[in-house]
Amino acid sequence: MVETQRIVEWLTRLVQIPSVGPVNAGVRSGACSEARLAEQVAAWFTAFGAQVETEEVYAGRPNVYGVWRGAGERWLAVDTHLDTVGVETMEGNPFDGRVADGRVYGRGAVDTKPTLAILLALLETLHEQGRPLPFNLVVCATADEETGAHGAAVFRDWVRRKGFRFDQLVVGEPTLCGPICGHKGTVGLVLEISGVAAHSSRPELGQNAITAAVPIIGAMMAEQARLQAVPPTSDLSTGTLSVTMIRGGQAHNIIPDRCTINIDRRLTAGEDPTVEGERIVALAKAQCALPISVQWLHRLNPFFQKPDSPFVQQISAWSGRAPTVAPYASDAWAYGGIADEVVLFGPGSIEQAHRDVEWVEIHELEKAAQIYLRWWGLSGF
Ligand SMILES: [Zn+2]
Repeated sequence: MVETQRIVEWLTRLVQIPSVGPVNAGVRSGACSEARLAEQVAAWFTAFGAQVETEEVYAGRPNVYGVWRGAGERWLAVDTHLDTVGVETMEGNPFDGRVADGRVYGRGAVDTKPTLAILLALLETLHEQGRPLPFNLVVCATADEETGAHGAAVFRDWVRRKGFRFDQLVVGEPTLCGPICGHKGTVGLVLEISGVAAHSSRPELGQNAITAAVPIIGAMMAEQARLQAVPPTSDLSTGTLSVTMIRGGQAHNIIPDRCTINIDRRLTAGEDPTVEGERIVALAKAQCALPISVQWLHRLNPFFQKPDSPFVQQISAWSGRAPTVAPYASDAWAYGGIADEVVLFGPGSIEQAHRDVEWVEIHELEKAAQIYLRWWGLSGF
């Protein structure tokens, strides 16, 4: 049996190593620090018997892969992101990892360092006891989840290059130990309309980029209405399209030569980010007489695992919680092609994530560790 105290100590240790991503870094957090934690994780994985590789997602921001070759043909995998959101508005010391009131506090205490803490406690204990795993295990500690979730794509490509294929893959996120089997995907686009500036007393000499954008917005509203009329095929509900920003113009008396429109498209099961993004671009171009250039901000697939799939049902039975879908996205967006079954699962509640006071309950850590032991066929351990 792995001791709860050991998991708590690992979690405190992990919270005490800041790993704020670049977008969220600030005065209190210091510079982007995923790499510091990655370096430690690589050393711990090596010490606990893994073959370890690191791979840069972006310069200075690596993923860490640990491979434990065990007995048998089963291949299991866990994704747990290294990065956290920022700490600039947090109360107290965000990195103290203090234990009080049956909880562990600090940035990352629930999102999502507990999964890594449980894995480290289990793998350390097994290594000390000289017990090989009764399956093969890959643990990926990813960078960038909170920023663009590109670490997941880099891991997926590494898995393919290695020729691995997983029977089951857990994405560690705070789910109160229940299985989350789906979330929407997303496409982010910026459309830039190019006009010609002129004195607004002579508008006929210019080409107005703002008025040229008006029919595009109308087309986007029509597309959103069309999406809402499509009957949903899964618990993920329908796709949505929102125009979220519009910018243009430079002065009261100048015909605007530039207008940008941000479009946030959320994808339901079965929708492809590139296909849907290209549909938006085609709709816009059909409505606009002026040239449009396109910036793709991100393309994340929807994630959907059938709620009646065996692994989802198993986690559900072990946790006593029914499968649900999440309103937020995760690294699972990238993993459809590398695992037979993918589930989001981990201790603590998403309600405590990204807040000015972040914590996880220690009994949630215990519960999640027990589920890991059952998943790994080590429940008598
Ligand atoms: Zn997370």
